Amino acid sequence: MKTALVWFKNDLRVADNASLYNAVKNCDRVISVYCFDPKLFAKDQFGFKKTERYRAKFLLETVQDLKQNLANLNISLLSFEKSPEIALLEIVRKYNITDIYLQKEWTAEETESIKNVKDNLKTEKIDFVETYDQFLFHPNDLPFSIAALPYVFTDFRKKCERNCKVKNTVNISKLSATNKLENINDLPSLNNLGFENFETDHRSAFPYKGGETEALKRLQYYFWESKKLSYYKKTRNGLVGEDYSSKFSAWLANGSISAKTIYEQVKSYEKEVAKNDSTYWLIFELIWRDYFKYVSLKHGNNIFKLGGILNKKYNWNNNSDLIEQWINGQTKEAFVNANMLEIKQTGWMSNRGRQNVASYFAKELELDWRIGAAYFEAMLIDYDVHSNYGNWLYVAGVGNDPRDRKFNVKLQAKRYDPNQKFQNLWLQNQLF
Ligand code: FAD
Repeated sequence: MKTALVWFKNDLRVADNASLYNAVKNCDRVISVYCFDPKLFAKDQFGFKKTERYRAKFLLETVQDLKQNLANLNISLLSFEKSPEIALLEIVRKYNITDIYLQKEWTAEETESIKNVKDNLKTEKIDFVETYDQFLFHPNDLPFSIAALPYVFTDFRKKCERNCKVKNTVNISKLSATNKLENINDLPSLNNLGFENFETDHRSAFPYKGGETEALKRLQYYFWESKKLSYYKKTRNGLVGEDYSSKFSAWLANGSISAKTIYEQVKSYEKEVAKNDSTYWLIFELIWRDYFKYVSLKHGNNIFKLGGILNKKYNWNNNSDLIEQWINGQTKEAFVNANMLEIKQTGWMSNRGRQNVASYFAKELELDWRIGAAYFEAMLIDYDVHSNYGNWLYVAGVGNDPRDRKFNVKLQAKRYDPNQKFQNLWLQNQLF
């Protein structure tokens, strides 16, 4: 008898989930687990919590929804507030697990966690099945080796568009009721994870809850109900409100929705409603997301190093006053300040905002870009290791930007916030 354990990490969905699909297909019984690893909430080398309250709350909502969606398939989700190596050993012994299914990861902390689990289970004779399941274009389908990944995004995109086919999504069938476990434990609360409860700021451009159900609701709204997808290319540089861009990032980051699901829906929309520059552009952005994943797959831990993937030497400083002013929205630039107050009070910032505040941090203040990236890691609801570090490298001039540009923040503010609507939203009534 084969009993599978699906170990959920950043693939917190039941639709189009390769690990779940393979476990259900290949095993007689399926159990699943999520660990709220204390390491996720510990402090990093710069003194920031690795996960702040916004993403912690979103994660709890996500796992709650996952648990319900799995229950509908007669699969139980166990949850633990301990490190995976301890939790998984307990489960393996208690339920006679034979196979563990998980999403394949490659960045330092994630691989260390997986290695610790494997080390702890050495004597248990477990088969580990690890699958890449976070991409649009699957690594096996690339027309080049990872080592030969194009240095420039456009080359990568064109080669993939010409030669790769996005794989179809997979669906999981319901198991019999006997697969369910009795008496499974409750999820922790936000307090248990070390945070006070809080209300979402009414100005937030991202007032959404976590979970697959919410992700699909947002997709339904953004594509089919409002048809905003048809205007995405025109609005995507916006700063205020919920609809200037898709807002899929947070659900994509923790895997509540797959990039392939979004891709399939864009293709259906193009057939049933209309195909235009905007529908294509959403796919274009998903290819950027893939690109940063491949950059980190190719360059490994260099994405976390000061010299980046280019091993460039610049003069960086770590002046703590300048860092505090940036974090608290007290720099000389009102546009930077408005964006920094937005992230501080909501865990969200637009792409335009991120580019400007990161460029200001790294290029204007010449601060060690890894500190800015670590602050984003703590605060962002949609933090994704590859997208965050990839974008920071790029903006800081140690990544894949052949132009190595610096944003002119004043001009950017004039162009993208001509009536100061965004700046007023965050700076009015602000006490300095
Ligand atoms: P949309 O404009 O609707 O785009 C659709 C999807 O395409 C996004 O959800 C995202 O998955 C992907 N995408 C769009 N732009 C990018 C990009 N530049 N790089 C990678 N993927 C992209 N994105 C994250 O998901 N997590 C991060 O931690 C993160 N950190 C960033 C840090 C910096 C300094 C910068 C400049 C950008 C960062 N981004 C990050 C990329 C981008 O800002 C967000 O993905 C985007 O703003 C999310 O909003 P949206 O979902 O409405 O995007």
